[in-house]
Amino acid sequence: MIKTVIFDLDDTLYDYKDSHRIAMYAICAYCEREFGLTTRETTEGIDKIMKQQFDEMGPIAASHNRIIRFQRFLEERDLPVFPHALTMSNLYWKTLMDTAIREPGIRECLAMLRNSDIRLGVGTNMTALIQYQKLDQLKLGEYFDFIVTSEEIGIDKPDPAFFQCCIEKAKAEPDEILFIGDNYEFDIKGARSAGMHALLYDPKDLRPNEAHRINDYRDLTADDIQAMA
Ligand SMILES: [Mg+2]
Repeated sequence: MIKTVIFDLDDTLYDYKDSHRIAMYAICAYCEREFGLTTRETTEGIDKIMKQQFDEMGPIAASHNRIIRFQRFLEERDLPVFPHALTMSNLYWKTLMDTAIREPGIRECLAMLRNSDIRLGVGTNMTALIQYQKLDQLKLGEYFDFIVTSEEIGIDKPDPAFFQCCIEKAKAEPDEILFIGDNYEFDIKGARSAGMHALLYDPKDLRPNEAHRINDYRDLTADDIQAMA
């Protein structure tokens, strides 16, 4: 029997990729206005720093930290980090949060699960403050009993330590937990390696051959959840 359902956050509760694209437009416009940089110079420069962050820091929450990313981008060009790294970070996150849209049916799905006496959690790779702000902005925070971020654990999904913490907070046995996420490697394989059940959220039908997948929360029932066990 499934007693706890844990959701990934980005691209599982809301469409991160679309909001990220709009936030990066805002960053490019800022860099053009302040420094005369082209969109290409800004996007390629920030992508390069992002890869360096992941390579140097490894899979930890700080490797996703935007203010460090913007700071390094500015440093590499001998541009003043203050106030620009802070302004760019605030601009990025404000734009992303202002444009973030909940996945269709997710609120009703969470309400349905709570009414079925299912314990609910969030399991996400990122810094805690930003993820709390997203949940608040999306008006979804109230549905969750617990949150696990990779900042809290010290390492990203799919590390076993991340999922071990999820199991402890779930207050259930691994085979009584269902993990729902959009990333096959991080969410699905990671959760299954820890002994949990896993359901791929795949709204764009990118993995049609995955047996346990859903493309619309509006189709998910409490019986479907229990059928996963
Ligand atoms: Mg995700």
